[in-house]
Amino acid sequence: MIVVMRVGSPEAEVDRLCEDFEAWGLTPERIVGKHKVVIGLVGDTADLDEQQLQECSEWIETVLRVERPYKRASREYRHGEASEVWVSTPNGKVAFGEHHPVVVVAGPCSVENEEMIIATAHAVKASGAKFLRGGAYKPRTSPYAFQGHGESALGLLAAAREASGLGIITEVMDTADVEKVAEVADVLQVGARNMQNFALLKKVGAQDKPVLIKRGMSSTIDEWLMAAEYILAAGNPNVILCERGLRTFDRSYTRNTLDIAVVPVLRSLTHLPIMLDPSHGTGRWEYVPAMAKACIAAGTDSLMIEVHPNPAKALSDGPQSLTPERFEQLMTELAVIGKAVERWPLPEPVLV
Ligand code: PEP
Ligand code: MN
Repeated sequence: MIVVMRVGSPEAEVDRLCEDFEAWGLTPERIVGKHKVVIGLVGDTADLDEQQLQECSEWIETVLRVERPYKRASREYRHGEASEVWVSTPNGKVAFGEHHPVVVVAGPCSVENEEMIIATAHAVKASGAKFLRGGAYKPRTSPYAFQGHGESALGLLAAAREASGLGIITEVMDTADVEKVAEVADVLQVGARNMQNFALLKKVGAQDKPVLIKRGMSSTIDEWLMAAEYILAAGNPNVILCERGLRTFDRSYTRNTLDIAVVPVLRSLTHLPIMLDPSHGTGRWEYVPAMAKACIAAGTDSLMIEVHPNPAKALSDGPQSLTPERFEQLMTELAVIGKAVERWPLPEPVLV
């Protein structure tokens, strides 16, 4: 249930209403938008009557019932306004959201050693990436495949953060590792395979770093948004959704099918920022540039691109990784589309 207050509603009136709602056993969540205050009501609202609620205050403009299974993730919950996820990095704050420039996140699938992660960090930063993404803990289909260097790789990510000033995004797979990963990561990634690991979702929802949640490889949009709802319901409002390709019937040429249509679909359903990952979405570096351009044209808020200094030798996902040189070239091409849709960052001021 959503209570939309009139423009100029006195704060004391909003406070009074929230107290009343709490006394009824509901959890009121105040969302302060640019123009209006909205009170989201979570709890058992089945028996509440919209008309009766409306009469609680003359400052209530309207009362809406959210029919969707996800509440906090729904667009209605913020009365149609997009949310922004601000992330602190050593180089300053970066915003993910519909009204901000496209944020490019790049790096290797796995953190392999200090030299490669620091070299990659410097290279992707020079080309315009705002975050370094690399895995310390890797979810692999085979137990015999490289599983990531774990804790020692977290140390290397911290060193790369320090050396480059880039924010760090890295995956957490286990509830037991959340605090440890959150010490280094600026954004915690929940991978496709863990999208419905509800214990993990509750745990990342109960800490204060933003969370990037990838769509499960065979998940519906509703399941994905319900997974985001777990994180929001646990108290963490900073959630970014990442589409990374779906498993479809034809896997002869691409690893997955990148569902770019999620951009307009999600825009209508949710206020949360959107990232697209054409690297896992195609599985082949040759196809990444065309899809990355399409993602920006479709209106994504962010892109995740795998970049490795020597893809042929990569310990995971080499075939879909761009070299730093190819990434640099891609960024110049993406700038053309990004500027055309007015979503490209302004060049950094040159200090003289
Ligand atoms: C990754 O981001 O490297 C990864 C393992 O992705 P996904 O969870 O989308 O497969
Ligand atoms: Mn990968």
